[in-house]
Amino acid sequence: MTHANLIAGEWVHGTDAVRNINPSDTNDVVGEYDRASAAQVDDAIEAARKASHAWARTTVQQRADLLEKVGLEIFARRAELADLLAREEGKTLADATGEVGRAGYIFKFFAQECLRIPSERLGSVRPGVDVEITREPVGVIGLITPWNFPIAIPAWKIAPALAYGNCIVMKPAELVPGCSWALADIIHRAGFPAGVFNLVVGRGSVVGEKLVNDPRIDAISFTGSVPTGRGILAKAAARGAKVQLEMGGKNPLVVLADADLDVAVRVALDGAFFQTGQRCTASSRLIVEDAIHDKFVDGLTAALKQQVIDDARKQGTTIGPVVDQSQLDQDMKYVDIAKSEGGKLMFGGERLNREKPGFYLSPALFTETTNSMRINREEVFGPVASVVRVKDYDEALSVANDTAFGLCAGVVTTSLKKAANFRRNAEAGMVMVNLPTAGVDYHVPFGGRKGSSYGSREQGRHAVEFYTQVKTAYVMQS
Ligand code: ADP
Repeated sequence: MTHANLIAGEWVHGTDAVRNINPSDTNDVVGEYDRASAAQVDDAIEAARKASHAWARTTVQQRADLLEKVGLEIFARRAELADLLAREEGKTLADATGEVGRAGYIFKFFAQECLRIPSERLGSVRPGVDVEITREPVGVIGLITPWNFPIAIPAWKIAPALAYGNCIVMKPAELVPGCSWALADIIHRAGFPAGVFNLVVGRGSVVGEKLVNDPRIDAISFTGSVPTGRGILAKAAARGAKVQLEMGGKNPLVVLADADLDVAVRVALDGAFFQTGQRCTASSRLIVEDAIHDKFVDGLTAALKQQVIDDARKQGTTIGPVVDQSQLDQDMKYVDIAKSEGGKLMFGGERLNREKPGFYLSPALFTETTNSMRINREEVFGPVASVVRVKDYDEALSVANDTAFGLCAGVVTTSLKKAANFRRNAEAGMVMVNLPTAGVDYHVPFGGRKGSSYGSREQGRHAVEFYTQVKTAYVMQS
């Protein structure tokens, strides 16, 4: 039986379906998920529109209770959902368990945020007048999500959208519809009114495009690649829709000569290679001061040798497979590019065979690279990182900032002064000191600068910017 789409509170079957394949074992079909037809997407948008007036007028307590219920069910089913996540995406069970917990906490957090939607009341400059500034729902939001965080990214878009009184039509990535379907099922059974949340699975070029272009969708929140994000921005902005984009990264991790070597290796290993490097916050550029360069490279190479690359759900696996064949091809292409540019492959970059057929790749570490090489300018989105040797802190900072992206930047140092300077001068939306560039909290803003992001921040109470619109009311005192 295929998994249907959720449209106007009903499960509606399609005419063809996506096969959800386990990247750790390509013989394992996780499930089949119906693609929504153009007419069904149309129905979903119409249902959201119809539901939006009443939903916007629910009390904050009603919305808080429903969101809390979703959060509680996610926690109650944490192990089962983590298994599904690891099976469809290929991150380890430990990482998947963390991600499911994060999704649960996000719903619980926004259940509480409903109760403190900010407003202001100011005196007018005119006598006898008050000014009241309130936030209202935007209306119907189109959510387009990527494959690398199959439950956390849907959660961090859905929960604030609902908390602030919006209706949703969501299109998950075709590679990982399982977690989104499970989330839709939880939301549906929690008792949200029909049409408030709709799930439509399908191709980006069909279902995604329709959401972007349909005038009944007031806002689009997208996470994915740079070219897709730019295309969405052009189309959505042309029709005046509100847009929020989270796109790529080419995040630097600066390792200074005074760093604690163990910390540096641990932070680089996690940030660059865990979750198969498939995180937009992954540190793919390791910018290392000359004095510690050789020791750091030796330490990281030794740590890479100890990694267990295998089935994501197998006990002991530290790095799971790449998500699919096309991503694997892209990773291998960049390994070749780095070699041809003169990078020295210190470790990995090889296709691996395991007991089951899967997309296994050993994590690749390059040295002797310069920041102008393609390997350091373009996002690979896989377990591939390169070291750039620099002579001092000033050069490290300037190389770190010499990129079209600006999502996250990290530094490993024991110098308070340099850490403070880096925090101030790194051109990134997020800065990490002695911590991996990847791995963020759920209750604080997430987002970047330059080519990485567009629009206001996601997560935490900053999410209110995107999911509400401001009204200024002038009232004559009676
Ligand atoms: P990735 O390379 O990681 O798959 P994409 O940017 O292609 O990144 O995909 C991210 C999300 O955007 C997915 O849900 C995908 O289906 C969707 N998508 C892809 N192309 C389009 C498009 N032209 N319009 C709207 N959504 C799209």
